[in-house]
Amino acid sequence: MNMEEQLTKLTQDMYGKTIEQTTDQELYYAVLKLSKDLLNTTAPISGDKKIYYISAEFLIGKLLSNNLINLGVYDKLDEVLKAHGKELSKIEEVEPEPSLGNGGLGRLAACFLDSIATLGLPGDGIGLNYHFGLFKQVFKDKLQCAEKNDWIEQNSWLNKTDVTFDISFGDRKVKSRLYDIDVVGYEQGVNKLHLFDIESVDESIVEEGISFDKEDIEKNLTLFLYPDDSDEAGNLLRIYQQYFMVSNAAQLILAEMKEKQYDLRRMYDYAVIQINDTHPTMVIPELIRILMEDKAFTMDEAIDVVSKTCAYTNHTILAEALEKWPLEYLEKVVPQLVPIIKELDKRVRAKYDDEKVQIIDKDDRVHMAHIDIHYGFSVNGVAAIHTEILKDTELNHFYKIYPEKFNNKTNGITFRRWLLSCNRELAGYLSETIGEGFKHDADDLEKLLKFADDQAVLDKLAAIKMQKKEELAAYVKEKEGVELDPNAIFDIQVKRLHEYKRQQMNALYIIHKYLEIKAGKKPSTPVTFIFGAKAAPAYVIAQDIIHLLLVMQEIVNNDPDVSPYMKVLMVENYNVSYAEKLIPACDISEQISLASKEASGTGNMKFMLNGAVTLGTADGANVEIHDLVGDDNIYVFGKDSDTVIVHYEKADYVSKDYYEKSPVIKEAVDFIVSDLAVKHGHKENLERLYKELLNKDWFMTLLDLEDYIETKDRMLKDYEDRQKWKKMMLVNIAKAGFFSSDRTIAEYNRDIWKLTEK
Ligand SMILES: *Cc1c(COP(=O)(O)O)cnc(C)c1O
Repeated sequence: MNMEEQLTKLTQDMYGKTIEQTTDQELYYAVLKLSKDLLNTTAPISGDKKIYYISAEFLIGKLLSNNLINLGVYDKLDEVLKAHGKELSKIEEVEPEPSLGNGGLGRLAACFLDSIATLGLPGDGIGLNYHFGLFKQVFKDKLQCAEKNDWIEQNSWLNKTDVTFDISFGDRKVKSRLYDIDVVGYEQGVNKLHLFDIESVDESIVEEGISFDKEDIEKNLTLFLYPDDSDEAGNLLRIYQQYFMVSNAAQLILAEMKEKQYDLRRMYDYAVIQINDTHPTMVIPELIRILMEDKAFTMDEAIDVVSKTCAYTNHTILAEALEKWPLEYLEKVVPQLVPIIKELDKRVRAKYDDEKVQIIDKDDRVHMAHIDIHYGFSVNGVAAIHTEILKDTELNHFYKIYPEKFNNKTNGITFRRWLLSCNRELAGYLSETIGEGFKHDADDLEKLLKFADDQAVLDKLAAIKMQKKEELAAYVKEKEGVELDPNAIFDIQVKRLHEYKRQQMNALYIIHKYLEIKAGKKPSTPVTFIFGAKAAPAYVIAQDIIHLLLVMQEIVNNDPDVSPYMKVLMVENYNVSYAEKLIPACDISEQISLASKEASGTGNMKFMLNGAVTLGTADGANVEIHDLVGDDNIYVFGKDSDTVIVHYEKADYVSKDYYEKSPVIKEAVDFIVSDLAVKHGHKENLERLYKELLNKDWFMTLLDLEDYIETKDRMLKDYEDRQKWKKMMLVNIAKAGFFSSDRTIAEYNRDIWKLTEK
């Protein structure tokens, strides 16, 4: 049967209708079924050694379009649907987006699974099947509210398996259930994303918003990703989740070894476990425990085998993000691991008389990263500058002990989702211009450089950008009710809301610009500032920053003196699907974190690939973007990481000094608590944010504000030199090949995993 016949049969069998007669909703389920049938007949990727990527987050996004592309049937299906008066893009809209991640770290894990399969490497993801995932953001009264994101339907990409394990906690035993999602590589075979769930989970215990009984573990264990951890019950639930994840992972890995009759004493010849940040760290003591209790290993033997199997990726140097669990929490939740963790700590103490490298500190807190570094064989950072900072400062004491364990793996993104799927126009035009080679070898994009002076190519790139801006404007009009002008410059900052990412600095620029226009200084090209960001529900200042942005949106967009020249839009519920619409439409990519704080960033790479020009600090992968495109094709500003690190060491940054020294800064900051702002917003939120900026400003917003204003003004001016701008677009696209996650994964494999590519 050809695809048309298959689909016709499916809609007939499922709904008794022809393709024409079905709704988009029905057609989505039919196409889902068709895709799953294709996945079932695609060969699994196999090999002697396998990578298990354990992660608390897999921010996979919608899967339909990506799977169709990777299965090589997108164009064919598109054609069939068109012939029956249907639009594949409309059908894609029907799919609910799973929100099994917070942001970059979870999205990275999803890109990695795509690239592992695309390179033909045997490798599965292991995580949790959160029923409501990360909250859905809605704005009420210019404040963020959190609602549950109900994404699991009767028919979905999840496949229920008959795999279950017994998991024992200190105070209870539960039974797990494994669900699998197929991960198909680009024109390749299939790996799995294993998501563990608990049979007794009860969705009905969720009350208003996202509140629920945090102590009812049997019912709540897999309801949410990272519930609010500001209280003890939230922290304990996180430990329950983490142990549930790793105990399942350990049992699954050992079961697969047993089935293949592998010798567990040489486990490291058959398996690598990549520990994505510290959330899966307990897999180390858990494996040691099982090997000793069930497989008659001595402690020495178990530690040796496990240490040669596990590798750790560090994602952050923010102190609050490096997990430290009170020993008493572990004693309550996982008492069986405590003697092992104590023994691991004892062995470290016997060798090193340095408090900084101990596992259990003097306050009886267990430093999870320290377990990973001592008892894993590899420690990697996620961008060149990040790895250097780990080696020189944050993890310097460990680097001195184990220099050979440290290595860098600069993050990447899958070009299937972030080019082929989200920007079919650009991908299509690139194919016409430089051939199809870039689809398998991203470095081939460099061929575009030959066209840097070809007017037809430059104009076409600009025309595609305009088309994507028009599409975004139409979507935003429908979704947010805000009218955008595609002729305006689209300046976009989308990422989690965090002070270190400095959305507040962008907000101060907007205030500055607003005041300038009010004073009669009108920009010659209008500009639209777009934001998208969720804030952790317990993160108060982040909520206040969202509030300020929504207040500015109301003030600016409704002021007839100003709105012809600038607009502000904060989109609701920024997620992967929204990113796929925003990124192709962007002119200016805002990557303005305080230098040293953004480990890598991956949003920066997605924007570059889609022809946006970066406005950024010398932080994370921005540094590598700068190296690749050169000074003429990026706008870098702000103090560098060395300077920032010295400020922290000396504790000599005083935000008030910057405020008092600069009238421009003072005027912008004061506006936050002006009568006009307070009229449109809430005094309490605005005053709290104002005071924070003036008296603390831990992430040094005011340090870089003047340089930021000056650089951004220059960039907006340069946009008017259309020829110059189009060339910058071209160079950014051409140089983006380095940021393919296929390159990242090939490096992980070459240096850490050492599996055979197919
Ligand atoms: C890529 C991505 C991120 C990461 O963005 P950064 O700018 O690197 O922080 C976060 N959320 C979503 C939905 C993404 O697609």
